[in-house]
Amino acid sequence: MDHRQPVYSGLLVIHPAFTPATARSAAPPADKSQSKRLKRLSLCAFVSFVFFVRSAEGASALNVVSSFRRSSAKRNHVSGCRLNKSTRAEDWLPPWSTIPTMHRSGRHFLQIPGPTNTPDRVLRAMAQPTIDHRSAEFAALGRSVLAGLQRIFQTSQPVVMYPASGTGAWEASLVNTLSPGDRVLAFDIGEFSRGWAEVARRLGLDVDLVEGDWRHGVDPDTVEARLREDRGHRIRAVLVVHNETSTGVTSRVPEIRQAIDRAGHPALLLVDAVSSLGSIDLRHDEWRIDVTLSGSQKGLMLPPGLGFNAISDKALAASRSARLPRSYFSWELMLGPNATGFFPYTPATNLLFGLREALAMLDEEGLAHVFARHHRLAAAARAAVTGWGLEIACAREDEYSPVLTAVMMPPGHDADRFRAVVLERFNMSLGAGLGRFKGRVFRIGHLGDFNDLMLAGTLCGVEMGLALAGVPVSRGGVQAALTSLSSVAPIVQ
Ligand code: PLP
Repeated sequence: MDHRQPVYSGLLVIHPAFTPATARSAAPPADKSQSKRLKRLSLCAFVSFVFFVRSAEGASALNVVSSFRRSSAKRNHVSGCRLNKSTRAEDWLPPWSTIPTMHRSGRHFLQIPGPTNTPDRVLRAMAQPTIDHRSAEFAALGRSVLAGLQRIFQTSQPVVMYPASGTGAWEASLVNTLSPGDRVLAFDIGEFSRGWAEVARRLGLDVDLVEGDWRHGVDPDTVEARLREDRGHRIRAVLVVHNETSTGVTSRVPEIRQAIDRAGHPALLLVDAVSSLGSIDLRHDEWRIDVTLSGSQKGLMLPPGLGFNAISDKALAASRSARLPRSYFSWELMLGPNATGFFPYTPATNLLFGLREALAMLDEEGLAHVFARHHRLAAAARAAVTGWGLEIACAREDEYSPVLTAVMMPPGHDADRFRAVVLERFNMSLGAGLGRFKGRVFRIGHLGDFNDLMLAGTLCGVEMGLALAGVPVSRGGVQAALTSLSSVAPIVQ
């Protein structure tokens, strides 16, 4: 459509006589037949012009137009490359910023903290004809992915899966375990923690939201104190986001579990593992989590579209008396067919092909190695941030996220403007600051199918982008990251 625009405007400029508007405003025709002739002529001219646009010659004419636009954009770009004091980030915008359809060589760097880069193996696995979801072949697929998910959640208890995003998995965790008016304890430690609490509120739950500064995770002592205060056991569930993707803070779930135990409180522990599953150690059984929920698009290296709930015996028992309305997300309706590898409705078959492949990749690498890889890359990313002289949003070392690093912008510098420069100049997407961090923070995703050189490329893009955007930083960040990567050897299988 972009390419056609100049041609259609050409129609108005080159052939004004043929436009219906001109035909209408022309002097009154001497007779009706002359007016008819004029209309017919307009129509003929228009139809032949449309044919021209669609023909090979038309296409080459369009190429001439766009190559002219390209070369003038390039000229601007090249002259903008001369650095001087008045050079603004906007002067650096390359040709593709003015021509959205222009091919950009090399691959896009998708360095947001999810969706993550989907590996070729997974893409190829999904590129198969969809099979009958009531066939024996499908049942084998269903059984294999459900068993594989149990390994990733580190559980022997059931894991259910929906064609849904993480938000759907949030809703499923709540509607299956709770009743209208039930009190839940939630923590405002970031945009997603707040979002899950909001979903709970919309569903008619009574949310006790503990304020936070978005630079710390859920404090186990606060959990213990709140639960001790609740002598009547009105709180039915504690909601904890394991890795808060908006801030790069990982809450200490095992310590939170101990805090609940110390308080001797029967509340369910519901954990959001949307950005930790398959990247950060998470033990559904050992940590006695009641519902661990997640999605497909981060550590599992799949496109968005699958939501998961891992369910403890206690949560399953709670679901039998829970009264929040549910149908699509009902565990009960799901668990029956799942026992034989089937689903109560049409599953996302091709995503399941991809899931089978992703699970195989995680098995081949070994979960412990996957977690160690994420820790190692995150340490290097943080070394870069420190090397630039910038501040990491997470305030506690023992809560640093292994999957993303959120970076505070110096006062007076807009993170979104910087991200726009990086996208335009280096074809790399960085995560935006969300909610109260909007414009103040940018996020570097380093999770999923990711390695040393991908991180090095990412950090080079950040360092160059910071300079281009005029953010006052030291140039030593990339070097610090490379030193960090060289000093800690990857685990070789
Ligand atoms: N929870 C966390 C921790 C997330 O990072 C996200 C999304 O990024 C969500 C929940 C919501 O998931 P979705 O956007 O897939 O609905």
